[in-house]
Amino acid sequence: MDKYQVLKKYFGYDTFRQGQEELIDTMLSGRDVFGVMPTGAGKSLCYQIPALLMEGITIVVSPLISLMKDQVGTLNQAGVHAAFFNSSLSAGQYRKALQLAKEGRYRIIYVAPERLLLEEFLDFAVHRTVSMVTVDEAHCVSQWGQDFRPSYLKIRDFIRLLPNRPVVGAFTATATAEVREDILAALDLNDPYLVTTGFDRKNLFYKVHTGGDKFAEVMSYLTQHPAESGIIYCMTRKTVEEVCTKLLRNGIRATRYHAGLSDAERRNNQDEFLYDTSPVMVATNAFGMGIDKSNVRFVIHYNMPKNIESYYQEAGRAGRDGEEATCILLYAPQDVVMNQFLIDQESGNDALTKEEQEMVKERDKERLKQMAFYCTTNECLRDFVLRYFGEYTTNYCGKCSNCLTEFEDIDVTQAARAIVGCVKSCGQRFGMTVVTDTLRGSQSAKLKQNGMAKSPYFGTLKETPVYRIRQVLQHLICLGYLLVTDEKYPVMKLTETSHEMLSGGPIFMKAAKEQERRSVRSTVPKDRKMQADLTDVDYELFETLRRLRMEIAKAERVPPYIVFSDKTLKEISARKPRTKEEFLKVSGVGEHKCKKYGEKFLAVLAGQSKKSL
Ligand code: ADP
Ligand code: MG
Ligand code: ZN
Repeated sequence: MDKYQVLKKYFGYDTFRQGQEELIDTMLSGRDVFGVMPTGAGKSLCYQIPALLMEGITIVVSPLISLMKDQVGTLNQAGVHAAFFNSSLSAGQYRKALQLAKEGRYRIIYVAPERLLLEEFLDFAVHRTVSMVTVDEAHCVSQWGQDFRPSYLKIRDFIRLLPNRPVVGAFTATATAEVREDILAALDLNDPYLVTTGFDRKNLFYKVHTGGDKFAEVMSYLTQHPAESGIIYCMTRKTVEEVCTKLLRNGIRATRYHAGLSDAERRNNQDEFLYDTSPVMVATNAFGMGIDKSNVRFVIHYNMPKNIESYYQEAGRAGRDGEEATCILLYAPQDVVMNQFLIDQESGNDALTKEEQEMVKERDKERLKQMAFYCTTNECLRDFVLRYFGEYTTNYCGKCSNCLTEFEDIDVTQAARAIVGCVKSCGQRFGMTVVTDTLRGSQSAKLKQNGMAKSPYFGTLKETPVYRIRQVLQHLICLGYLLVTDEKYPVMKLTETSHEMLSGGPIFMKAAKEQERRSVRSTVPKDRKMQADLTDVDYELFETLRRLRMEIAKAERVPPYIVFSDKTLKEISARKPRTKEEFLKVSGVGEHKCKKYGEKFLAVLAGQSKKSL
């Protein structure tokens, strides 16, 4: 068999994706590889295919039980013998699996890094031919990364203890320059062939929504996309509880996940989500690492995350199957304040000196600032993120809420001068809210107390909507005419250039056209059957097949997306195969699955075509 046959036979795909083929060829030639590819790019196939073509065993090191379970489930469904060794197995199960492994039953073995140097495992590994060791989520080896796992540092020792050095592969979706160097060094990669496929996720639609009722916004999305599975990230446990309860009250099948729940409940809720019993997950950022669910169709952030790295990782959990998916960030200026507060509260890492801790805080605040810019920019959102990661693309993607909004350059000189004037006249003592309220001429008690009700700027912008004042404020900060301090109660200050601005030329700002602003909601793709190439009839069929998939998944005790991905189901609905040969031609249908499920699907399809006659 060659790599193309393996791809078709086991995984049911006809073509390789970007980067896969070269990585596979290189590993087969015996050279180490290092693949940096975004989430959903298909890194697993890069090592699973050579594993099936090599003589000996492949050992895959993976950081999380859920990831291993998912991958082994997928492989078993594809007809490949694979197993995992981690703490979820009882002593008896572990011994049995190890025995089977010794007998040569498995081609691919997933193992937690802690196990590598344990005597039993080591004894097994040195007595069998290990052709390849693959390190998945390789960034866990780096102390710079957020997911550092000390036991990843043992991988190198393990490899050195093997009688013949295997090919070593490292894969990750996140690798800044520092992390990349750590990986090369800590894994002792030998002249590895590096493949980087860029960070862009073309199937994701990005949207930022500012102001308004966040919950109403969520409900509006969910009612327009009733059948979809997705994640709603909230900043605190409390918000998770609130949002989840409200959703349930509104008839949405939602579940929740945060660090305050018991292990058992967390596991249960995660499974309900994976198995599509509760398709909507409301969670803190504790949820997600290790979630390979391929049919996550949306990720909504109820609060702004603390930096773009986190946002991109969390939002990136949408659309792993390559189908269209939506990422919405619900932004409110309070989120920035809350994040500032959290950074200040952070107790810091004891291993660092005071100065180092200060540096970390500085860095965190700078990152937070960039995140806030993302939320307020009128430029292309995709471009903004890619530039943040050092990739330069065009300024227009056509697939984010900013690209789809029509903007015009408006003259904001008057508002800008009023804002800067107000900051100056109040002695640079107040934050954004007081300044905005003053300009709006708000009748609040606070303004009377602090004297701002008597300011010469009181009410000078009373005709300007609040959101516009905030936009201009942000714009001035971006241009460097104003700054916000990092204190506990952030205060607005002038900069060296503020005076220039007061007496200088006009100030322009890009702003959404008025009617556009109100209708921006419509920029999010409507119910996905509209944009997929499914007609109404096919869509019904798709729903029927989804039910069949659910039945099979329940019987097999695997999540539905492991039986067939949404993409594959859609293709079946569109092509309507009538024979096993035709069924096999569908992308995602391998020989094993065709044998196992072909008849069931063909029967449903035959029944449907009779109905439509
Ligand atoms: P990653 O680990 O890079 O995030 P995965 O290995 O989990 O990505 O793959 C994501 C999805 O892409 C899976 O559903 C997988 O089956 C699918 N996939 C991988 N390679 C191909 C391919 N060549 N053609 C079609 N689908 C693919
Ligand atoms: Mg992966
Ligand atoms: Zn764009």
